[in-house]
Amino acid sequence: MNIHEYQGKEILKGFGVKVPNGYVAYTVDEAVEAAGKLGTTVTVVKAQIHAGGRGKAGGVKVAKNLDEVRTYANEILGKTLVTHQTGPEGKEVKRLLIEEGCDIQKEYYVGVVLDRATSRVVMMGSEEGGTEIEEVAAETPEKIFKEVIDPVVGLLPYQARRLAFNMNIPDELLGKTVKFMTGLYQAFVEKDCSIAEINPLVTTGDGEVLALDAKLNFDDNALYRQKDILEYRDLDEEDEKEIKASKYDLSYVALDGNIGCMVNGAGLAMSTMDIIKHYGGEPANFLDVGGGATAEKVTEAFKIILSDKNVKGIFVNIFGGIMKCDVIAEGVVAATKQVGLDLPLVVRLEGTNVDLGKKILNESGLNIIPADSMADGAEKIVSLVKEA
Ligand code: ADP
Ligand code: MG
Repeated sequence: MNIHEYQGKEILKGFGVKVPNGYVAYTVDEAVEAAGKLGTTVTVVKAQIHAGGRGKAGGVKVAKNLDEVRTYANEILGKTLVTHQTGPEGKEVKRLLIEEGCDIQKEYYVGVVLDRATSRVVMMGSEEGGTEIEEVAAETPEKIFKEVIDPVVGLLPYQARRLAFNMNIPDELLGKTVKFMTGLYQAFVEKDCSIAEINPLVTTGDGEVLALDAKLNFDDNALYRQKDILEYRDLDEEDEKEIKASKYDLSYVALDGNIGCMVNGAGLAMSTMDIIKHYGGEPANFLDVGGGATAEKVTEAFKIILSDKNVKGIFVNIFGGIMKCDVIAEGVVAATKQVGLDLPLVVRLEGTNVDLGKKILNESGLNIIPADSMADGAEKIVSLVKEA
């Protein structure tokens, strides 16, 4: 799960990580009021969306007085920001962070991630902050330093010092940077983060070390014990179809293609997407209805696929192991009865109760194109969608 920058900063503050003062604002008036409360000479108006790259896209503006705060708030609120992380459709800005302006001396990068190769939490640091760290990693990887953290003892002070030193943090600020890094690591572990990225961490004219940006992601599987984090969830930022799917406990990920896929089993779902691509098509989603899905669950899954306006054809690819083919067939028929179906539908069924499943589909009166194999089905749906 992802949260907003201002929420991430709230959490970090609780762990002793310094952040600039700021308030969230949902309207232009609230933004101006917040700036008034801050009372600083320079105020920064920041779009709050679940994506980075806002600065470059015009989502971070420096205001020198309340009139400018009003102008920028007006300009950014309601705007659809397109950044390199939002995809071409962009994201509508519904909240702002009104923050005190910082006298930035230099921008750095610090990130905490779980490294799968070592199965350890790793803290990364670089003096190349403010820019995209992916670019630094590609062009000047020698400027990124890493500390692998032992889970038993946590981030040790000497490791934080070494990282700060490698990042060329000025000597007089090493102590504050160590405190910053220790707090960041603690927040990562205690809140079950999957990513905690500060880009930029800044040193300021008055000798402070601050998190100017904060990107915190959380492990969904740990949310049951992080109720306070769950409070931060912003459904506006999530795909409606994915929210619906999670209600029915379906593994669904929206993609940007036009072939809707209904599959059982994550492995089969992945290879179905691969084979669609192989034949020159683009999947509209990943969907695993799971092993013991009921007809009701299948019905909801099919409805979710149909609610995607980009979908121009559907490929049902089921191997009935624990899942029974007749249950899938019943779900497909029930869903199309409820919402109609005027798209090509290719079905490949194999396994438990396959004959009964085929019979249900045949007698449904639906215009179904049967497929003999996965490859056959993928080829058929790709060409049908291309013709449409
Ligand atoms: P994003 O990563 O989405 O572009 P950031 O929060 O990193 O957004 O902001 C982009 C840039 O804007 C920062 O690198 C920094 O230079 C500037 N900036 C952000 N917040 C402040 C602030 N409070 N005071 C001064 N400059 C800021
Ligand atoms: Mg940033």
